[in-house]
Amino acid sequence: MQPEMLILLGTGNATVTRCYNTCFAIQTGEEYFLVDTGGGNGILTQLEKAGIPLESIHEIFISHEHTDHLLGLVWLIRMIATKMKKGQYEGDLQIYCHEELEKTIRTIVELTVQKKFCKMIGERIFFRTVKDGETKKILDYDVTFFDIRSTKAKQFGFTMKLQNGKKFTFLGDEPYQEHEEKYAENADWLLHEAFCLYRDRDLYSPYEKHHATVKEACEHAEALGAKNLILYHTEDKNLAERKKLYTEEGKQYYHGNLLVPDDLERILL
Ligand SMILES: [Zn+2]
Repeated sequence: MQPEMLILLGTGNATVTRCYNTCFAIQTGEEYFLVDTGGGNGILTQLEKAGIPLESIHEIFISHEHTDHLLGLVWLIRMIATKMKKGQYEGDLQIYCHEELEKTIRTIVELTVQKKFCKMIGERIFFRTVKDGETKKILDYDVTFFDIRSTKAKQFGFTMKLQNGKKFTFLGDEPYQEHEEKYAENADWLLHEAFCLYRDRDLYSPYEKHHATVKEACEHAEALGAKNLILYHTEDKNLAERKKLYTEEGKQYYHGNLLVPDDLERILL
């Protein structure tokens, strides 16, 4: 069995300037499953810093259409298509997303990427659309996707069993809701957004943006019996202290293992 690693490429919310937007890779052996891509060309920087070669990414999931999750994909398609044409990329690229999102991605890519690269879509770059509750084989994993029922933009999360038997659940960038219980309960690894500290809620207005604070994220994780909780998709005004402050607040509401990773942090799953 290969060690399985979670690599946080970005941990910030949509408008951050001091870290990258939330996205991550799950590594098993030499291969990576990339989840979201952040808001632009910075994905290439983050991958380079993390030591993840584009040649080792064959599976990408995009949770929803918002710029801070999607636009990095345009760059990945451009760069990977270039490598395909030069004979520097083996195999195909699979992009998982819900059906409407495929249309959005195709439109943006066709409008912004040269035709010779767009042509790789359908030849060696393939969309694999996912439905609510559907399971797909990605790398060696059975990944079950679910609609988080966002009222802002249709968004999917997923849950999967790691090779080490642990349950890993990604809830997207909105707070946990009860209909997600079977996917999230007793997770060994629960990934939940936390826009800011509860005590800073008047400063950042998380609720009107359909986001949670550290407090609510931790209360959900506690009720769900999550063993490890990872908080991400945060504000970035005090990054140097974020880990300390978020952990201090969170520990009042959650008694499992609480992690507040920085960009490029690696976590052994
Ligand atoms: Zn977001």
